[in-house]
Order: sequence, then structure tokens, then C-alpha cells
Amino acid sequence: MNIRIESHGVKVLLDLLEDIKNGKTFSDDEITDCFSQNDFFINYYCSWASITREKLLLCIRSVNKTALFSENAVLQRLHNGFMYAANHADELRNKMQILDTIDFNKITKNVVSYLPLHTDLECTIHYTLDSFNGAFQYKNGIGFSLIMFKDLSKEYIIQTLSHELHHLGFKYWAEKDAIRKVLLNENSGRSIAVSYVQDLCMEGLACYYFTPVNQLSDDIKNHLPEEYLNSYNTRLKELQNNELQFFNDSEELLKQALDDSPDLKSCKDLLWQNTIDENGIEPAGHYIGYRMAQEICNVYEKSNLINCITDLSLFLLLYNRAVSKTPQKAFNQKIIERFSALWQETA
Ligand SMILES: [Zn+2]
Repeated sequence: MNIRIESHGVKVLLDLLEDIKNGKTFSDDEITDCFSQNDFFINYYCSWASITREKLLLCIRSVNKTALFSENAVLQRLHNGFMYAANHADELRNKMQILDTIDFNKITKNVVSYLPLHTDLECTIHYTLDSFNGAFQYKNGIGFSLIMFKDLSKEYIIQTLSHELHHLGFKYWAEKDAIRKVLLNENSGRSIAVSYVQDLCMEGLACYYFTPVNQLSDDIKNHLPEEYLNSYNTRLKELQNNELQFFNDSEELLKQALDDSPDLKSCKDLLWQNTIDENGIEPAGHYIGYRMAQEICNVYEKSNLINCITDLSLFLLLYNRAVSKTPQKAFNQKIIERFSALWQETA
């Protein structure tokens, strides 16, 4: 277990944004050099379909102008964040000092108790200026944004980092499942089904144990920007009031993806809709995964839920069993059997 902190890149980016705001000009090469010191953050967003280095460069150059990227919700949010950072640089530098006092190894030890035995967590935490994801897990690291919370709440830091560290532990085991890897690497419907269930399970467990979606504590509420909190509450109501519809959407995605001749374009669109919230609040899949974990834990021991990390099809099976005697929506049994059979037919 080894956790490192990378904070140099974010300091360079913050200086650059502040200088641009104050009217200093930079060549493309100078901004690219700053990008190279923030590779983790920049490469993560460049792995998204609609984002390129050029667009991010423009985003950074334009911290003095508003609403330039209204056609792209993610870029727009990132741009707003860069503007915020440029105008609040000292506040963000103070936050970094407070983060220096956090015992990351203690957080990690707790997270490991919600993962299969012998999970080896190796990770670098990169501080970012990200107003789309408060935190994200990518490759062997975690991005942790300095601008999603207006003041430092220790509880927010612990919960958010625990959530992302749990993803890393989840992926440690996903890497060891050779059949899952083969399935995920295909360009096929069943690959999309595995990718989706993996997202449901990974987000579901991390939300259930560390960032319960419907229970923001008062402490965290007090530290979130009001605008974000309002959007969050609106989104949460939408998810709760239409829960059955979101479960049906999940089922429809799995049904199409596991069809003998799936329409890949339609499956990919459904996967995007179910796993990404373009407003950056709460993807439907996080909420559905969380509700599934909750229903499973109403009936089964914690160890059963943790076993789903190494045996992915168990997540759907246990959920259906857990809700079998309740009015809660269960997935079509045929779809679940079809999903479970993927491992035998690929072995
Ligand atoms: Zn997550």
C-alpha cells in the first residue's frame, strides 16, 4: 500500500491562469508545457470523445471571457472552473496547505476493509482544477479537485477520496479477471453489457459505502457551493421520483447489448446516457448501482456484496434475489442468466 501526492502541476496551472487573468500573454508552447506538467488531468479529459488538447488550450486562454463553450457542457463546466481558479488563486493555495495535513494512509486502510482480502492499493493523488468531476479515478491515480468545495471539509475529503480509492481497489481485481478483460476489449454488444454492469457495481459499492447519494451530511452541505447543491437536489429528486424508469432504462440497455445481433451505435448511446451525467451532477448509473447495493445489503452480509467485485455477474443475481419478495423492480431473469453465461462461453 503506497499513496503519493502530486501537487506541483496544479501549482503551475494555477500560476498560469492567474497570470492570464492579469493580462499576461503566453505562447502555445508555454501552455503546452504547463499541460505536460498536468498530464494526468489533461490526458483524462482528452480521453473523452468531445475534448481535445486544442479545445482545452482555448479554454485556458479564455479565462477572461464567459460562456464560450455553450455547445459542449463538459468544456463549459471546465472553463467555468478555470475562471473560478484564476479569480480565487490564493484561496486554492490555502486549501492545498490544509490538504497537506490529511493522513491519506489512514483513509486507505479503511477503504481496504471494503475490498476483497489482499487488495494491494498503489496510487498517486493528483490535485486538479476540475469543476466537472470533484474527483475521478483514472489509470493508476486519482484526480482531486481544489475547486468543487468552497471551504475545506475534512469529511468531504475523506468521503470523496475513499470513493475513488475504492474504484482503484475494484480495478485491481478487474485486472485479474482474464475473461472480463477479454470481454471488455471486444467491440461487441456483450462488451457493452459487461462495461455497464461493471460501472453499476463499481459506482454502486463506492457510493453505498462512502458517498451515499441521498444522504449528504450537514457538514458537506455547508461546504458545497450553493449553486451546486441546488442542482444536486434537483437531480436527486429526478432520480428518486423516476427510479422505476431509470431501472427500466438499465434493463433496456442490457437487453439490447445482449441481443444476438445488437445495434452497437444504439448500445453505445444508451451506455453514455446511463453512465454519464453531462451536467456533472449524478449519472443515473451511480444512483441505480447505489440502490442495488442498498437492496443487496438489506438482505445479505457485507461480504456478499464485496464478492461481486471479483465475480461481477453476482451483482445482478444477488440484487434480483434480494428484491424477489418486495415490490422493488427486478431485472428480467433471462437477461441475468444471459449475462452470467458470458463467462462460461468465453472461457
Ligand atoms: Zn465513482
